[in-house]
Parts: sequence; C-alpha cells; structure tokens
Amino acid sequence: MDRSHNFSAGPSALPMEVLREAHAEFFDFAGSGMSALEISHRSDAFVELAHQAEQDLRALLKVPAHYKVLFLQGGASLQFSQVPMNLLRGRKSADYLHTGLWSGKAIAAARRYAAVRVAGSSEAAGFDRVPAVADWRLDPDAAYLHYTENETVHGVQFPATPTASVPLVCDACSSLLSKPIDVAKHGLVYAAAQKNIGPAGVTVVIVDEALLDRALEITPDILNYAQQARADSMLNTPATFSWYLTGLTLKWLRRAGGVAHVHRANAAKAALLYRAIDESGGFYVNRVQAAYRSINNVPFVLADAAREERFLHLAERAGFRGLKGHAAVGGIRASLYNAIGLPAVEALADFMRDFQRAHG
Ligand code: PMP
Repeated sequence: MDRSHNFSAGPSALPMEVLREAHAEFFDFAGSGMSALEISHRSDAFVELAHQAEQDLRALLKVPAHYKVLFLQGGASLQFSQVPMNLLRGRKSADYLHTGLWSGKAIAAARRYAAVRVAGSSEAAGFDRVPAVADWRLDPDAAYLHYTENETVHGVQFPATPTASVPLVCDACSSLLSKPIDVAKHGLVYAAAQKNIGPAGVTVVIVDEALLDRALEITPDILNYAQQARADSMLNTPATFSWYLTGLTLKWLRRAGGVAHVHRANAAKAALLYRAIDESGGFYVNRVQAAYRSINNVPFVLADAAREERFLHLAERAGFRGLKGHAAVGGIRASLYNAIGLPAVEALADFMRDFQRAHG
C-alpha cells in the first residue's frame, strides 16, 4: 500500500498496526456482531474497552492512584475554559506562562473567569525560548500555575517540569505519551488525543482527586471533572469510536515498548531533522534556542522565503503531507509524533538536501 509520510501537527499519523486492527474488526467488534461505530457506550464490551484504555494509560504514564483519568470531549481548547471553571473556587487569580500561540489562547480563554497573571513570557523574544525560571513572578495565592509543555506552533518545549507551590496545570496536547512526564508533580494534565494518543474526538484529563472540589458554581455538570469522574466520563454519550481507536493506540504503545522507549526514538528523529537544518549553512533556519527545541514539532523557514511555496509543492509531490507551517507563523513545520518512523524523517532530510542542491 502506498502510504504518505504524514508530518501533520494533528490530526496526525496513527500506527499502521492500529489501522489494520480497526480494519480487521470493523464490522464485528469484540464478537458483538456490530462495528465499534455502532455499539452502545453502556454495553459490557464498551465499558470493558474504556476500563482497559484507562488501565493502559495509567500504566504508560505511571499515574498515581489518587489521580482520576478522564476521557472527555471538546478538545484541548475546551480545557482552556474548563480548567479555570473547575479550579477557581475561593480564588481570584491564576498564573500562566506565555511561551507561544497555544498558551496565549489558554490565557485569553481563562480571562473570562480569572484575573490571569502572566507569570513569565517569551513574547518579546518572539517565542524562541521558555523564559528563564529566575524571571518568573509566581503568586503563592494563585489557584494554579498553567504551562504548555510543548508549543505546537512555535516548536518550543520545556526542558524541565516547572516547580510551583500551587497546583501545576499542564497543557500536554502535543507531547503526552511522546516522553515521560512526572504526573505526581502536577495537579492536572490535559491533552487532546489527535497527536500521540489516538484520533481526534477524545481529550484526556488526568487530575489529582484533591482538586475535585474547586469548581465554580457556574460550571455545567457536563464540564465538571468531579461529576465526570463519578460517571466514568460517560455523563453523556462519549465519542465512542475515537475512544475505541485511542484504546488500540494505547495498547500498541505498550507493545512498542512504552513511553521511555518511544522517547528515545523521538529524540533521535528530532536530532536528525535539526541537524539537516543546522548543516544547511543557513538555507533552512529554525530560530528556537537549542535548549528549548521541541522534539515533537520542528518549525523552520527558508532563508529565501520566496522559495517556500516551491518547497511545499515539490514536497507534496514527493509524498510528504502536512508540512505547511501554522497560518499564524507560516513557514514549514514537521511534526514527528510516535507513529512517524525514522525512515520517514530520513526521507524528509534527504528531500531537503536535494531541494537545496537544486535551488541553493
Ligand atoms: N494546545 C496545544 C499545545 C495544541 O497543540 C492544540 C492543538 N494543536 C490545542 C491546545 C488545541 O487542541 P484542540 O484543537 O483539540 O482544541
């Protein structure tokens, strides 16, 4: 089968094994005589699937027992509002670190509910780094400190987990399951599935039970973590097929050796691509400082911007998909999630060298 090299930032490539499995049981899921598209979320087979997905996620991330794992809907964008709604009771303000486009959106959404304090920002530097810890101005009375572990658009990643005296909230949308994370250092971790976890439609929330009594009165039941936890994330009809595919992807990741194992592979893929950029003599440029370069999303520009369109056109013709940079920043971006193999990245690096030879 002729499959494209899919470097999209999300929805992104799923493991071929997962697609094959879903294909094989498309008409008959778990001997039910029904597709996983058709089966009730109240059926034994689906409840078992949901339970297994939670167990697999807990095992992969070593989630401590006093955390709830939720499989919700609405994407990470809904979490931008759901987090403050659920954590602000009795508090007025929340701290945010501003490191790129997505933390900017989280800040804008939270302003409806909280007095947001930007405790640190790299905006003035064009988001080429995480601001130095010494420059953060943390408020000990904040409801929480929010950070975006990996900025999917700007390609900036935290080199270490922030330390805070208040609950730490992490948008791990584009990095969860691509590298180890110490859940115990966090009050809450959230991620939409469509990068490393599964297909679009599911949003994972991992939350410390101790934080489940802090929802604002205005929080609708459906957005209330405590209520969803009590209902096993099925307060209403969940995105069953996405949840099913997420379950298959989590099983695949366990078979593939787990998070530490894929992290090594992901670091090697990223190193290969950054080398191709850095060794191009300025033909390709990634302007993120080395210590903060993302292993998940590698944005770059051509020094001669007029050649970008041609680059993207030829890349598309050569079978590389999803390389166009986010509309907010333009340029090129290659996302290197778990399902992207090293050969695909080698092929891209070769293509980049060939393009430079022909156009340099
Ligand atoms: N946060 C980050 C870091 C993201 O990369 C994205 C999506 N690319 C989002 C939030 C928003 O996710 P969604 O589209 O699921 O709302």
